[in-house]
Amino acid sequence: MISELLNPWIRDLVPYSSARSEFSDRADILLDANESWEGGNDGVNRYPDPLLRELREEIEHVMGIPYDMSAIGNGSDEVIDMLIRMFCAPGRDSIMIERPTYGTYSVFAHTSNVAVVDVPLTADLDLDEEAIIKTIKEKKPKIVFICSPNNPTGKVYPLEKILRIAEVNDGITAVDEAYADFSEGFKSAIQTIKENPRIVVLRTFSKAYGKAGARLGILVSDPAVQKVFMKAKPPYNVSSLSEKAGLEALRDYESVRRRIEETIRRRKELSAFLRSLPYVSEVFPSEANFVLVRVSDAASLYSYLLEKGIVVRNRSSDPLLENTLRITIGSEAEMAELKEAMNGWNG
Ligand SMILES: *Cc1c(COP(=O)(O)O)cnc(C)c1O
Repeated sequence: MISELLNPWIRDLVPYSSARSEFSDRADILLDANESWEGGNDGVNRYPDPLLRELREEIEHVMGIPYDMSAIGNGSDEVIDMLIRMFCAPGRDSIMIERPTYGTYSVFAHTSNVAVVDVPLTADLDLDEEAIIKTIKEKKPKIVFICSPNNPTGKVYPLEKILRIAEVNDGITAVDEAYADFSEGFKSAIQTIKENPRIVVLRTFSKAYGKAGARLGILVSDPAVQKVFMKAKPPYNVSSLSEKAGLEALRDYESVRRRIEETIRRRKELSAFLRSLPYVSEVFPSEANFVLVRVSDAASLYSYLLEKGIVVRNRSSDPLLENTLRITIGSEAEMAELKEAMNGWNG
């Protein structure tokens, strides 16, 4: 079933056989990969493990994602790009998104000459189930991207709704759960992959795990999809330094957990503060590490904050998001400075 959805040139691809994927047992003398025989003591004179075995074992151990269901991309960005290249034929196929949402789905579709079908969210920024299902039947997108919690709104969509959409979608339903860790009582789509192998889930080390600079994204999928991703990705797509950074976060999960708690606490605090401001008309309930807020004049508040050395994101050009700013939760000191600055603005 998955094989019918894949681009035939990907399905039939003969993967590059790297020196390290041919030989995986322990050996003392490695003269197989034309590497340098020295280069400092962090091991970067050697090529990284193309299978990212250590990291994926730790992901299974800490996150409970089975080893044969995980693959690692150079950030979720690479996972998104790869999914489009695996399933969408350039010049013929399309993906579907529900705007406003994360911008890279359409960017990567366009770099592959894949069309983007856009179904707007409802007025309360929820998935428009009826319109989505109608559009899926009409346009038959190869991949439906659903971002939950959504960026930039912070809204979690009910899993039941996502599953109903995935059920009628004959293509891939890619659920981007980049912000899942910040959502209390979050219901992940990961557990549903067993029943519907056309569902894939994206996770990342960039947010809750604190490793955005390492570029580590996780594709969680049926083993059939995972195998194809592994053969179609660039063999050494994730550096050994990045793998180490990921391992470090997983092995000190207690710190990650504490930071998540702290972030959620500050998010609630910031939301309450924003509601108290006279020029704020709406604070969108967020289950992510940011808050979207509607103000009297987003463009001039944005410039005012910039003058104070504070950068936020102006989302006002997105559909439904006129006069909104997206504010990331920062450190205690940063939040204090932000509040002081915002108190001093008379919008
Ligand atoms: C930040 C973010 C990601 C993470 O992307 P990386 O390439 O892993 O850093 C993925 N999806 C969404 C919706 C995001 O906001």
